[in-house]
Amino acid sequence: MDNFEALKELLDQPRKIVIFPHRKPDADALGASLALAAFLNKKGHEATVISPTDYPDFLNWLPGNECVLVYEGNNTKAENLISESDVLFCLDFSSLDRIDNLGPIVAKSTATKVLIDHHLGKEDFADFELWNPKSAATAELVFDFINLFGDSNAIDLPMAQCIYAGIMTDTGSFKYSSTSGKTHTIIADLLDRGLKQEEIHRNIFDVNTENRIKFLGYALNEKLVILHEYKTAYIAITAEELVRFQLKTGDTEGLVNYPLSIQGIKLAVLFTDRSEHISMSFRSVGDFSVSEFANAHFNGGGHKNASGAAVKNMTLDEVVERFNKLLPFYREQLNK
Ligand code: 5GP
Ligand code: MN
Repeated sequence: MDNFEALKELLDQPRKIVIFPHRKPDADALGASLALAAFLNKKGHEATVISPTDYPDFLNWLPGNECVLVYEGNNTKAENLISESDVLFCLDFSSLDRIDNLGPIVAKSTATKVLIDHHLGKEDFADFELWNPKSAATAELVFDFINLFGDSNAIDLPMAQCIYAGIMTDTGSFKYSSTSGKTHTIIADLLDRGLKQEEIHRNIFDVNTENRIKFLGYALNEKLVILHEYKTAYIAITAEELVRFQLKTGDTEGLVNYPLSIQGIKLAVLFTDRSEHISMSFRSVGDFSVSEFANAHFNGGGHKNASGAAVKNMTLDEVVERFNKLLPFYREQLNK
């Protein structure tokens, strides 16, 4: 982090701080935010995590979850907290559109802004940045951030659980190429603090409802489209299906990995009609950059092999059609 000493000096006094994960936070965004909040509170600051939206129930076990303020439905309270803040931390996103209506509020705020993130396509809005797109997870960067203060002893078991959850999920349980030796060194450090990893894996992955499992069967059996010509596979879920299977936030997470796991498939997409927008989840294997693809055609972004977008003012069918029409332009790249 450039100019870390100046930030350290600013944080020498107790400060009012707000920490934002991105909209619909995942375990990395929320885990990193909660670990950072716990650390800053230990240092005598008043840190609050404000999530732009709700998030999956399987994250409710994260220590500190009970103190998260969800912006939707608590707008005034959240806006007051933000306007009283000295420092705003932005975690696990690099462009302000990832926090919806909070984006313009953060942009306008005169508080010191700190970005901690590992996504490509970084905007230039923060005063301090701990940004590394090679990092496996934002939680890994929060671990580094705490170490920059020379405060690694401050990492207690609840903080270790939050950091572990972020790294474990963003690395696909330590299998993605972003997993480095350093990632494993951090995990070893967390385990040495008494962390029970089996419990965390169960809390996050073994909490399926009957509906979700039946929906998975339905999506794979009835909705999977495979385009061998383009080494592409996708699933498009309608708003009616979300209601029919009583799906909740987070219930479609991980679904896109099934089409991606088919032999020979290089590009997988999950389209979901969320009514207010069509959400797209892209995954790729190898050189095909889904962050460039999402950015070029759907105003999205993310990482080379995992990206997303939220498309407004188009129907699900229109978005799927646009996607299908783009594929011939990528035939060669996808068949390399
Ligand atoms: P997921 O498919 O798991 O929702 O997201 C995959 C990756 O793409 C994550 O790193 C996520 O932060 C990023 N991402 C998801 N949705 C969007 C979006 O609407 N815009 C941008 N820029 N990135 C996104
Ligand atoms: Mn992340």
